[in-house]
Amino acid sequence: KRLQVAIDGPASAGKSTVAKLVAKKFNYVYCDTGAMYRAVTLEALNKDIDPRDDERVAEIARQIKIDFEPGKTEQRVFLDGKEVTHDIRLPKVAANVSAVAAIPAVREEMTKQQRKIAENGGIVMDGRDIGTTVLPQAPVKVFMVASAYERARRRYAENQAKGINTASLEELQKAIELRDKKDSTRKVSPLTQAPDAIKLDTTNMTIDEVVNEISKIIKK
Ligand code: C5P
Repeated sequence: KRLQVAIDGPASAGKSTVAKLVAKKFNYVYCDTGAMYRAVTLEALNKDIDPRDDERVAEIARQIKIDFEPGKTEQRVFLDGKEVTHDIRLPKVAANVSAVAAIPAVREEMTKQQRKIAENGGIVMDGRDIGTTVLPQAPVKVFMVASAYERARRRYAENQAKGINTASLEELQKAIELRDKKDSTRKVSPLTQAPDAIKLDTTNMTIDEVVNEISKIIKK
């Protein structure tokens, strides 16, 4: 049976890395819901719309077409047919995405699209509210956490490997903690562990170990 697998957790906990590998292993589709909120944010910024202007941002969420395509190493993301895989990772997008994701009408639209993507199962979906709100009936739910320091360290190493010259480790950790706080304290679908989710603290786990743990849950 092809299941729905929900993976939630704070920023940079390794959700997407693990979700991609799990999807590959079971021949499931991978869906990065954070990329969808990022695409809405990017479009708002490109159009000079204030990320806190609920109505105009919601209109963008309803109008733009977001598509995913499997790439060689990463999942490619398209906004109205134009590739935005890298642009959605820009620091200006990261700094504004929590505000956009706090708009109820934006969440409503993204949730609708995400449920459609997941409707036939065989999907690994990562985000903040998949197990609680988007797919509350998913049979496999994982809540991935890691210490803020470890998450910043991983993101920093990743940036270095990609040759992206960004912030210092301390700055990265601060930005990650701020985003977690905003995501956990918003009114609609805040970042929380679903009661039936299995918590995995990956601070001291390798990627393979995390993938194996989740695979065991799927095979049960
Ligand atoms: O996963 P990623 O860090 O790319 O997500 C970017 C932002 O999108 C999160 O900080 C959060 O504000 C928002 N988000 C959300 N619900 C999801 C996925 C992401 O609110 N399911």
